[in-house]
Parts: sequence; C-alpha cells; structure tokens
Amino acid sequence: MWKPIFRGLIFVLTLIGTAHGQSNDGLKVFISVDMEGITGVVNVDDATRGGKDYDYFRQTMTREANAAIEGALAAGATEIVVRDSHGSALNLLPEMLNRNSKLLRDWSQGPMFMMEGMDASFDAAIYIGYHARAGTPNGVLDHTSSGNVTDVSINGLSMPETGYNALMAGHFDVPVVFVAGDKAVCDQAEELLGNVETVAVKEGIGAAALNLHPEVAREQIREGVERALNNLDDYKPYKLRAPYTLVLTLKTEQNIYRGALYPGAKRTGDWELTFVSDDVMEVIKAYVGMRR
Ligand SMILES: [Zn+2]
Repeated sequence: MWKPIFRGLIFVLTLIGTAHGQSNDGLKVFISVDMEGITGVVNVDDATRGGKDYDYFRQTMTREANAAIEGALAAGATEIVVRDSHGSALNLLPEMLNRNSKLLRDWSQGPMFMMEGMDASFDAAIYIGYHARAGTPNGVLDHTSSGNVTDVSINGLSMPETGYNALMAGHFDVPVVFVAGDKAVCDQAEELLGNVETVAVKEGIGAAALNLHPEVAREQIREGVERALNNLDDYKPYKLRAPYTLVLTLKTEQNIYRGALYPGAKRTGDWELTFVSDDVMEVIKAYVGMRR
C-alpha cells in the first residue's frame, strides 16, 4: 500500500522539479558579501567597526547573506561558502548565519581578497552588499578597493570590484549569476557582465540613499538568487581576451612611486601605472601589489 503512494509522491516531486527548469541537485555556490551595498547603509560610520550603528548593520548584512543562502538552498544548493568581503572581513555574525553554509573570515594575505576560497569546484558566484566603482554619480559609498585607487581598467573597461571579482570567478569558469547592492552597482554589473540577475536595494541621491525596507530587500534577494540558480545555463563565466592590459590610476605620488616598483609595472602617466600579462591571475596579483 505505501509503495504506490511513495512512487506517486516521487512522480509529483519530479514534475515540480521539471517545472522549475533543470535539476540543480548538488550545486556548490560561492557568496561574497560586502557591506556598503547592504540595505540601509549610507555612510562610512554605518560600515565601520566602532561606528554607532555598525552593530545593527552587521546584523542586516548577515540577514541579507541568509536571504541569498535560502535562495540557493531552494534552488538545490548542497554546498555554500560565504566569504566576508568587507573591511576587516570579520563582520558577519557566525551564529546568526544559516547553518547550511561555511563562513570564510579574515584576509589570507593572498591576492584574491573578496574572492578568496573560489575555485573550479563552484557552479555559481553571488555578490551581496556590493557598491559601484570610485567616482560613480549617485553611487552609495562608491569606491574601488582601498582608498588609493581612482580607477582600474582591464582591456579598456573601467572595473568596479564586481568586474574584476567576476574575472577571477571567470578564470575558474564560474559565472556570476546574481548581484545585490545599490542601483549604480547593479547598472555597472549588467553593463559589464551582460546577463546577470540584480536586486537594487537602494538608490543614491547625492550622498543620501532611498532604501527598500530590509524585509522587502531580503525577499527580493531570496527570489532573485533562486531564479538565477534555476536558470544557471543562461549565465556565462566572465572572460576578456588575452593579453590583459591593466591600467591603474592612483591618488598620491607616494602610491604611484611605490606601485611602479612592482615587477613589470610601468609608469605611463602622472597618476597612471600599466601592467600587461597573458595570465589573468598575474594581472590580479599585479593589481594588488601595485595599488596597496
Ligand atoms: Zn566594503
């Protein structure tokens, strides 16, 4: 008696699975979480340890990471690595994080920073709390890497962190399928990556920002991540054509002078350094070594 019922149940579940698209069992997902693009965060104090509202916003940050994890689990993820990608890299609250994930904290001192932990075993990368590149009009807390960088371009494309982080994922043939942050970073992600699911949790108005309610933001992140992972075939790893030409514009003479000492770096302007390589990870290492 129980066997036919059991078989019927399996059949119904299979139908539900098919209606959702491909079977995603066993997905391995990488989630990099920055803080400037978290709902409600509008100034440096909000995202700095010791800031008056920092403890509140690190909870919001952890909840937004959880929304992404829940979306991934709903789409069939069985392995999830969360990379704390902001400031000290010690912001996400381990106890509050969904237990079906592992959390990577602190900086290894290697070159991958916000993408540390990424390798070819992952099926998809997801960015939460991201922000636009330095100098973006109406970007909320826009900057690129450390405060030293005015601009970084690779093969003529000016890159937010989203761009060169996607290039690192692409090096391992892993597509970036979802980006959440302010509207400016969502626009930049779509411009660079082409097909990518985005959720703008806020929109900058000068130095202010109009925010979604945090619950609404979480709902949209959860749904967006699930949708993206259910349509994984629609996303391509981000790659550019070799040779890769990195042009880095820094802010001070001290930075430029030191950056030019990196092996292979050339000073190509008052504020500009150039580095060329056929290996994308060599370019990333050079970027890290030159910008400091
Ligand atoms: Zn950050």
